Amino acid sequence: MTDAEIREYLTGKNDGELFATADRVRREVFNTDVYLRGIIEFSNHCKQDCLYCGLRRNNRSIVRYRLCMDEILECAGDIARSGISTIVLQTGEDPFYSDAAIADIISAIKSRIDIAITLSLGEREKGSYKLWRDAGADRYLIRLESFNEKSYSQARPGTNRQERLNCLETLRDLDYEVGSGIMIGLPGDSIDDVITAIRKLTVMHLHMIGMGPFVAHNQTPFAGESNGNVDMVLRAYALMRILNPMANIPSTSAMESARPGGRMRGLQVGANVIMPSFTPKRVKELYNIYPGKNVQQDIDEDGLQSVLTMIEKAGYNVSWARGDSPLKANEKCKM
Ligand code: SF4
Repeated sequence: MTDAEIREYLTGKNDGELFATADRVRREVFNTDVYLRGIIEFSNHCKQDCLYCGLRRNNRSIVRYRLCMDEILECAGDIARSGISTIVLQTGEDPFYSDAAIADIISAIKSRIDIAITLSLGEREKGSYKLWRDAGADRYLIRLESFNEKSYSQARPGTNRQERLNCLETLRDLDYEVGSGIMIGLPGDSIDDVITAIRKLTVMHLHMIGMGPFVAHNQTPFAGESNGNVDMVLRAYALMRILNPMANIPSTSAMESARPGGRMRGLQVGANVIMPSFTPKRVKELYNIYPGKNVQQDIDEDGLQSVLTMIEKAGYNVSWARGDSPLKANEKCKM
């Protein structure tokens, strides 16, 4: 596909053809399966100061929380009892949890439950990633958010895009399944940057690709900026599916915050993963990286029922399998 063709699709010139092709490609690899990942957001503290994020350290309006080991294990038990086979452990970049403490959490979960563990804990040293891999972590997510050097530096002050890319390489060397992605509509980004991101993420041969719209948060310097275009995110899902047939692609909760029904629509245009939050109700809404995050309560009195109903309404089937990366299995076969 040429850049000109990608641009035409992104601007909605042929949504019917694009979405139908993406859905055909996803069915060839994943049939109608939708994998579930239960997220535990166990701390909303963060040492970074990203201009788009409600957890940024200079947001003094947010109430902060941390979960202890027992609470994390309780959430992990809830995920396992619901039948889900992957736990995602996510936080802001919170140095309160030492490398050893995180390794203890991973080992404690793995010793009790046969389940895949994905980490989303930000940038750390190679030694930390190795310790956690040895403790049993299977996958790691670290989104780049933008491939535009200028908007990246503006949005993530004090951080370096190359260092984030290096983290991904390190994680791959350590045999994690690795995931990355972008935010669409970040202030300063243009459609050219989305095309660049689609190209660059594709050559990275990622096992997981996460994308969502920028959603302006009123407790950040980006308050009042325009939200990302949800239709463009849907088209990006479809393009990424066509270019990366074997990637696990979540339909992210930001889609739902930006447009009710957005997450279900994401499944219909190439995404194959849903990530309901199992963070305890008393703190769930405090994991407020963007407005509306965790406000729609996936886990209510009926447990997961609203998520399961949504998947079936979209025309797909819930899979309770681990949903390991077919791309990684393929890589191993070739070794
Ligand atoms: S985007 Fe991540 S690293 Fe940046 S402030 Fe938010 S939680 Fe911290």
